[in-house]
Amino acid sequence: MEDSFLIRCTKCKGSFRDKARRVQNGYSRQCPLCERVLFFEEGTPDKNVQKALVDARHLRKALREHENTKRSAVPFKFVRS
Ligand SMILES: [Zn+2]
Repeated sequence: MEDSFLIRCTKCKGSFRDKARRVQNGYSRQCPLCERVLFFEEGTPDKNVQKALVDARHLRKALREHENTKRSAVPFKFVRS
């Protein structure tokens, strides 16, 4: 399952990908297109950053649920008796 998602840069309006587990409150990274540093902080007035934080949180949750299904779906033949 894909663990990266698109972040939109406020300055150049370009999009780049980053990992959902990295993008959370306190994280910062440079836009690879215009080199502007984006700060990911809760409560920021920057709509793009806000959306990225929400998207990352949703994706992390989805990934966690995906992992859980995989774990509980182990076929019985692998269980030693
Ligand atoms: Zn940019």
